[in-house]
Amino acid sequence: MINTKPTPRLDFDRFKLPIDKFFLWSHGEKFLKEMGLIAIDEESVCCDRCGRHSDDWPIPHIGTVGSYSGITETHCTSCHLLFQPSLSLLGIDSIRGSNVGKKGAADQYDFETGYGFNLEVDQKKIHCSVCDKPSNEWKTPHRGFQFTFENKDLTTCLSCHKDKFEKDIPLLENKRIRGRGKISALKLGMMPSSAILCTPDEATLGLAHTEKDGNITGFYTKVVGTPKNPFTLIQKTYNQFLLWLVENQPTPPFIYINALDKNKDGLFSNLRVTYDLESTYVCSNSEVNVINLKSWKAFFDLIKDKAVPKKGFADLLKTLNDYATGKLTPLQISQYLKENELIEIIRAIPKDPHETKMLIMCAKKWAEVNYD
Ligand SMILES: [Zn+2]
Ligand SMILES: [Zn+2]
Repeated sequence: MINTKPTPRLDFDRFKLPIDKFFLWSHGEKFLKEMGLIAIDEESVCCDRCGRHSDDWPIPHIGTVGSYSGITETHCTSCHLLFQPSLSLLGIDSIRGSNVGKKGAADQYDFETGYGFNLEVDQKKIHCSVCDKPSNEWKTPHRGFQFTFENKDLTTCLSCHKDKFEKDIPLLENKRIRGRGKISALKLGMMPSSAILCTPDEATLGLAHTEKDGNITGFYTKVVGTPKNPFTLIQKTYNQFLLWLVENQPTPPFIYINALDKNKDGLFSNLRVTYDLESTYVCSNSEVNVINLKSWKAFFDLIKDKAVPKKGFADLLKTLNDYATGKLTPLQISQYLKENELIEIIRAIPKDPHETKMLIMCAKKWAEVNYD
């Protein structure tokens, strides 16, 4: 059924579907090269995620077959992008079953050498237990291994570890730590709250980044150091990303994917290219929403111009919510705006209640940044 002959050279002009072509446009080739695609020769195969027939895949009859949670699935090229884990493109998600991997495990992995170090020397030099070289002269200065071997506590440099212990004590290489911890790499489709803006020139990935008690965590931290990451990274979850779009008004055409959630089966059928900022498509797995990015900008500009105070803004959002849920009529909302000297805002308020709710959600994020 599956032909494993080498992947033919990927010819991007052969893409049939403009939407996927767009999605893969920006650096998609890097992904695909890394990800072991094969020719799917069987006549009648559909992608197990998006359901499309292999004739209709972005690269027809080129995809993957793999085991996902014990079930064998066939994926089209686009779905493969979302579900294929990749260390070099996206970094380490977690290291399971390892006593080393609990904190900052990803930091221990060195992409250049492919080794995971469990020893990081600060200022004080230490010496390798085998060759006695000080840690500043090691092949990977100050990064090495610490372990117990035949009841002895040892510290080794990379060279000695390779020569003498690699076989007996595999550390992070071969994707394991001492034969116990197993590295799992990140998947593009498994980064909830992330968002992607895809233009013909680049793909920008917005990822969460949190700092608590001096410890930095979040997807941004994991992806940022990876050697083949094809994205422009920004530290923003989807609501912050949407605000960033409002402020920066990207030039169409573009695709905006909001909140990559765990379930991806509907994502590709929901992708729409935005050609006009007044009808910006906000695509996700479950739905496509249309928002007017120009009006949204006008809304926030007016709030700034009018110097609406924090309390007044919270009150406005509550009133808008009542309007969106049908508790207030258009007449009542315009009366409210008149009374509060905000009548100009009426032009910037969406007509669609769903869009209004999205605007309110973003406005709450906006308030966090703009009021103290
Ligand atoms: Zn698919
Ligand atoms: Zn040594």
